[in-house]
Amino acid sequence: MIDLKKFEVWFITGSQNLYGEETLKKVAEHSQEIAAGIDAAGNIPVRVVYKPVVKSPEEIYETLQAANVAENCIGIITWMHTFSPAKMWIRGLSILKKPMLHLHTQFNRDIPWSSIDMDFMNLNQSAHGDREFGFMVSRMRINRKVVVGHWQDTEALAEIETWTRAAAGWHDWQGAKFVRFGDNMRFVAVTDGDKVEAELKFGFSVNTYGIGDVVAVINAVSEEAITALTDEYEATYTMADDLKKGGARYSSVYEAAKIEIGLRKFLVDGGFKGFSDTFEDLHGMLQLPGIAAQRLMADGFGFAGEGDWKTAALVRAFKVMGAGLAGGNAFMEDYTYHFDPDNALVLGSHMLEVDASLANGKASLEVHALGIGGKADPARLVFNVAGGAALNASIVDMGNRFRLLINEVEAVEPVEDLPNLPVARVLWKPLPDMKTGCAAWIYGGGAHHTAYSQNLTAAHMQDFADMAGIEFLRIGKDTTIPQFRNEILWNEVAYR
Ligand code: MN
Repeated sequence: MIDLKKFEVWFITGSQNLYGEETLKKVAEHSQEIAAGIDAAGNIPVRVVYKPVVKSPEEIYETLQAANVAENCIGIITWMHTFSPAKMWIRGLSILKKPMLHLHTQFNRDIPWSSIDMDFMNLNQSAHGDREFGFMVSRMRINRKVVVGHWQDTEALAEIETWTRAAAGWHDWQGAKFVRFGDNMRFVAVTDGDKVEAELKFGFSVNTYGIGDVVAVINAVSEEAITALTDEYEATYTMADDLKKGGARYSSVYEAAKIEIGLRKFLVDGGFKGFSDTFEDLHGMLQLPGIAAQRLMADGFGFAGEGDWKTAALVRAFKVMGAGLAGGNAFMEDYTYHFDPDNALVLGSHMLEVDASLANGKASLEVHALGIGGKADPARLVFNVAGGAALNASIVDMGNRFRLLINEVEAVEPVEDLPNLPVARVLWKPLPDMKTGCAAWIYGGGAHHTAYSQNLTAAHMQDFADMAGIEFLRIGKDTTIPQFRNEILWNEVAYR
């Protein structure tokens, strides 16, 4: 389970010594109240921790340096209650490695019309103090999120929540390890990319392991462990009688459970947050890992098929960002189209590995032949996926930069039964419409593999791309092809 409450964002208030003790005492009191108020706000998934008011270049440097090395600090929130001359911030900001949110707020919501005097004005000057600070951050070309509003304002709190979720996903990537069993699927382009540049840019590493390494672990799994897991399958999923213990095809389920246990052990023992495999290189594995991948994803591991380490890492980041929210985050593939002009739809799926966390209702555990990979019939979970707002996201390697491309979609529940389709499936309408959404995706170079989210939004993606310092392209309800193509063209120049 992914627990975001162990993470902190530090609430750092800037000021200066010339205000005198009395005013600075008030600044500290107000800052503590604001930090505690945001911390207590129900929708903030991490802890918000007050830090003593910084009043000099030395205090700023020391506080930001401490934030850099604090294990559970995923970012900082800055606010200038009073005026904090921004040259004081240069040295500290120049070493800051954690994401920053600049909260442009004020302690009091309203102007106290009948009592306001110059003492009040002297204390409550974030309207210009935050502008001074903002200039320096812009002057230093540092990415940050600016949130404006009173600190109890629900819209401002929602923006803070979004940013903390993006920061948690970003923090999770730093030092994360992903396994690629074997190499990329032969000749496939978009799933591959520069792993060295990715580690520089994103902080996670991807290293290969021979499939024999995991097969050895799978083959060492005990019979008791396997039957305990097949019991769990029987208790959790709808299954035909011949797949249950004692049934004619139980051996297929037994083999799938063995693969799940071995894979899980390999990932846990190695401290890996996700993996990719390819059906072209599964020597010694009797089935493709179907239900294994589906259930590992549901438990928070990143995964993508065919060597696609970028999507596997993105799926993991999404799981961290969406932790605790209703809805799931999953590996997805645009599979086939319904080109009915009145009801155009994309059917998303994969040959087996659709994340079990998307299941709408009880999933069905089934064993069917698979015409690809040349292995025994694999077990997989089959289910439908709920409708509602969702998005697809893809990280593509453009050669000189990474691009995060997203398409907001409206998922719909299947209107027809699909009795002969032996895989889990999702149906959605790309925004703004089928033709524009698909054309923009292709112009943007987006992959056929995506991370699919039911609970993250374009705002999470924007914040996440800013933290990574990569290009962000959004296809949504207001997208037009001429505008989108221009955006791509202009970005070419921006990133040259
Ligand atoms: Mn695929």
